[in-house]
Amino acid sequence: MSDPLVTDTPQNQQHLQNLKGPQNQQHPQVQQNPHDRQDPNTLIAEVAVIGGGAGGLAASIVLARSLRSVVVIDAGSPRNAPSAHAHNVLGQEGINPLELVAKGRREAEEYGVRFVDATVVSAEHTQQVTQESEAVGFILETSFGVSIEAKRVVIATGLTDVLPDIPGLSDGWGETVIHCPYCHGYEVRGERIGVIGTTAMSYHQAMLFSQLSDRVTFIRHDAPEPDEAQTRMLESLGITYVDAAVEAVVRTDSGTDVTLRSHTSSAAPRGNEAGATAENETMTVGALAVGPYFRANSEIYEQLGGTVADHPSGMGSSIPAEATGATDVPGVWAVGNSADISAMVVASATSGVLVGAQINAEFIMSSVPS
Ligand SMILES: Cc1cc2nc3c(=O)[nH]c(=O)nc-3n(C[C@H](O)[C@H](O)[C@H](O)COP(=O)(O)OP(=O)(O)OC[C@H]3O[C@@H](n4cnc5c(N)ncnc54)[C@H](O)[C@@H]3O)c2cc1C
Repeated sequence: MSDPLVTDTPQNQQHLQNLKGPQNQQHPQVQQNPHDRQDPNTLIAEVAVIGGGAGGLAASIVLARSLRSVVVIDAGSPRNAPSAHAHNVLGQEGINPLELVAKGRREAEEYGVRFVDATVVSAEHTQQVTQESEAVGFILETSFGVSIEAKRVVIATGLTDVLPDIPGLSDGWGETVIHCPYCHGYEVRGERIGVIGTTAMSYHQAMLFSQLSDRVTFIRHDAPEPDEAQTRMLESLGITYVDAAVEAVVRTDSGTDVTLRSHTSSAAPRGNEAGATAENETMTVGALAVGPYFRANSEIYEQLGGTVADHPSGMGSSIPAEATGATDVPGVWAVGNSADISAMVVASATSGVLVGAQINAEFIMSSVPS
């Protein structure tokens, strides 16, 4: 039987009502907080979740199901929105990313989570938070003019994909310009795929795409020259190597045209078939793979005194968090892509579930006298 919370049949809506039961229907989270009534511009919650993507929504649901009051503030731009379909989402294979978060939000609302459609523009401590703190520790200001006071904060703001500065590249982002073989690779299987090198990790990316097509061309662009192992890998997997930079990308009805500028006087390709050999030649591909710089959306975390860390691969930055999601800033937790550049949708939701459970446990423990 399908999950009653994600299938919107009348029977399942009824089932959900039954699951909630009369006690939960009266739960104070679905009523306005007394303080909220006095000042409509201030919401009070035990937990404020900044970001309503997979990570933030999952955290909010666990907390609300633990009878915690939760406010989610969301700017409404999940990272995968440029793609029409989200893959490897168990039970929701191929769902539209915006539909997925809309469903998640409805589920959260059913449990009394309150939402503010806005950007958190600033955050500050109202007092020092310790594991035992029961008092409000944070105040968040939003672009909507609403303030949120909370005891704990979950940063679920995701990351920003910073693409190389190549004219036309961003036009196809999420469709014909892709980064993740597991998110979109199957959809471009068998096509001619150009991989634009940005770091040494781009060789790894080309290797993964070679499983999906025997027409992969590695265009070095900004990546370091291949070492011996990388050269061996390219050759043995039949990946064509072009020592050139990408000057421009143009999306056409028949594919994507890539204009190249040779890094060397002779840009002769090594390997199968490149489709372009010399300066300012154009090759046409079905898809372009590129490794963006994965920059954590960490402004609010930094305002609260946190420091972001560079990923050892050089591919991006993230909020350093323990396996529990706890950060160096007491009372502040991080989930999803803000803390892990490699987390896909399900992994982001999983981290949200774990953090929600940790925060709930911490609240309970703080009420036990030591
Ligand atoms: C093009 C593309 C396609 C992808 N396809 C897949 C796929 O098929 N399958 C898969 O598993 N993964 C896919 N991914 C990865 C997927 O997008 C991430 O795993 C997932 O979005 C991470 O969830 P998150 O909750 O951490 O962040 P997000 O989903 O990015 O959500 C963060 C939310 O926080 C909001 N926000 C940010 N700052 C603030 C602020 N200051 N105040 C309020 N709100 C804020 C944003 O607007 C956004 O709504 C894809 C990624 C890209 C770039």
